[in-house]
Amino acid sequence: MPLSPAILARLKSVLPPGRALESVHDTDPFVRDWRGRYRGATPLVLQPGSTTEVAAIVAICAETGTALVPQGGNTGMVAGGIPRSGGEDVVLSLSRMKRIRDLDPVNHTMTVEAGCVLADIQAAAREAGRLFPLSLAAEGSCQIGGNLSTNAGGTAVLRYGNARDLVLGLEVVLPDGSVWDGLRALRKDNSGFDLKQVFLGAEGSLGIITAAVIKLFPRPAEVVTAMVTLTEPADATRLLSRLREASGDAVVTFEYINRNCLDLVLEHIPGTADPLDSRFAHYALVELAAGSGGARVAPVLEDVLSAGLEAGWVLDAAFAASEAQAATLWKLRETIPEAARADGGCIAHDVSVPVSRVAELLERGTALCERAIEGARVVAFGHLGDGNIHFNVVRPRGAAAAPFLERRADLTPMVDDLVSELDGSFSAEHGIGQIKRAQLRRYRSATELAVMEKIKAALDPRGIMNPGKVL
Ligand SMILES: Cc1cc2nc3c(=O)[nH]c(=O)nc-3n(C[C@H](O)[C@H](O)[C@H](O)COP(=O)(O)OP(=O)(O)OC[C@H]3O[C@@H](n4cnc5c(N)ncnc54)[C@H](O)[C@@H]3O)c2cc1C
Repeated sequence: MPLSPAILARLKSVLPPGRALESVHDTDPFVRDWRGRYRGATPLVLQPGSTTEVAAIVAICAETGTALVPQGGNTGMVAGGIPRSGGEDVVLSLSRMKRIRDLDPVNHTMTVEAGCVLADIQAAAREAGRLFPLSLAAEGSCQIGGNLSTNAGGTAVLRYGNARDLVLGLEVVLPDGSVWDGLRALRKDNSGFDLKQVFLGAEGSLGIITAAVIKLFPRPAEVVTAMVTLTEPADATRLLSRLREASGDAVVTFEYINRNCLDLVLEHIPGTADPLDSRFAHYALVELAAGSGGARVAPVLEDVLSAGLEAGWVLDAAFAASEAQAATLWKLRETIPEAARADGGCIAHDVSVPVSRVAELLERGTALCERAIEGARVVAFGHLGDGNIHFNVVRPRGAAAAPFLERRADLTPMVDDLVSELDGSFSAEHGIGQIKRAQLRRYRSATELAVMEKIKAALDPRGIMNPGKVL
C-alpha cells in the first residue's frame, strides 16, 4: 500500500532541505542492486546526518508501521539493501554519516560512523601508522555499516577474521527509535550478553547500526605477494597448509582462481595481462606478512614453492617485486566479478565448505555444472583459505545470456545440495537478503529458524526493519 502523504511529510520534516529524495531520477540508484538483477521502488530516500536524525526517523516509522530499508554503499550481492517492488518501503541511506569520531593508536581502535567508506577507514588507519585489515574488491564504495551488517569477509579473513571479529562496540538505533550506545572500546567485557553480535550480520533486519568501535592492528613491516600455479585443486589446499606451518601462520591471503576466471578478466578488463608465459588450470594468489620483529616471510615462501616445484605439484610462480606489481596481480583477482558482469552475468554461488573439502567441491561441482549445461564455464575463485569459493557459472561461449541465466533455477539447487553434502554453507559471506531466503528455509533446521524468528519478533514486533529480507 502506498504511504500516506502525511507520513511522508513527517519523515521529511526530520531532515534539513535537500536530504530527502523523491523523484524517480534521484531515487533510481538506491533501488537497483549492484548485479543489476533486482529493482525495487520507493517514495522516499532519506539521508540523515546524525544518530539523532536516524532515531527520529525510526521513531516515526515505528509509530506509523512504516517499513524501512537501511542502505550503505549498495554493493551487496543478495539485494538486501534495496526496497521491495511495491513502493511501500522508505530507504534510509547512511552515506552522510561519515565522520571518524575517534582514533586511538595506543588502544588500537577507531570509532567510525556507519557511512564511512571502507577505503577511507583503511586510509585513516594507514595515516596513523595502523592497519584496518578488512579488505574487499568493493572497498572504494561499500560502507562500514554495510560491512558490519553483512559480516563481510574479504581477502584477509585467514589472518584477521570476518568483520564481526573486528568490532569492539556498536551504536544501534533500535526498531522502536531508541538508541543503544554500546560504543565501548574494550577487548575484555563480559558484562552480560554480548548484544553487538545480534546486529552484526543481521542485514538491517534488527536495527540500524549508526557507529562502531573497530579494531586496528600494527602495520606489517614486510608483505610478499605471489601468483602460484598448481597441478590440481588439492595442491592449493596442500600449499595453504605448508605455508601456514612454515611461516608461523603469517598467511594473510590465499585466493584460488581457475583459468576460466583469468580468461574472462583478460577478455573484458582493459590493462590486464597473463601473469605467466604459459596457461595453467589452477592459480593461487598468496600474500604473507610479517611484523618488524619477526622472521622474514619471503624466504619461507620461496622455500615452500621450491619444494613444491621440485616435487612437481607447484608448476610456476610470479613474485611481485614491487607494490605496483602486487597491484597488477590483485587486479586479476578483484576484477573477476566485474568481468563476469560484462560477459552477460553469471549464476553465482557464494559457498563455503571445510578447507579440507574444497578440492572435492571444485572437482565435483565443476563436473556437475558442465554436465548440466553443455559448454557452461565454471568461474571458480575466492577465499580458499577460509573454505569460501565463489562457485560461479557463466554462459557457454556464443550462447544468449537470458536463457542461460534462467537455468539458475535448476543449477543452484544442485550446487547447494553438493555443498550441504560436504557440510558447507550455501551463503558464506554475502548473506541472505532477498535472494537466499528459500535456501535458508531449506538448509537450516526448524529449531534454528524458530530462534531467529523469536529474536526478530522481540526486537522488531511490528516488522518494520527491512521486511522481505533474511527471514
Ligand atoms: C566487486 C565486489 C566484490 C565484493 N567482494 C566481497 C568480499 O570479498 N567479501 C564480502 O563479504 N562481500 C563482498 N562483496 C559484497 C559487498 O560488498 C559486501 O557485502 C559489503 O559489506 C556491503 O556493504 P555496503 O555498504 O555496500 O552495504 P549495502 O549493500 O548497502 O547493504 C548490505 C546489507 O546491509 C544492510 N545495511 C547497510 N547499512 C546498514 C546499517 N548501517 N545498519 C543496518 N543495516 C545496514 C542493508 O539493508 C543490506 O541488507 C563484494 C561486492 C562487490 C560489488
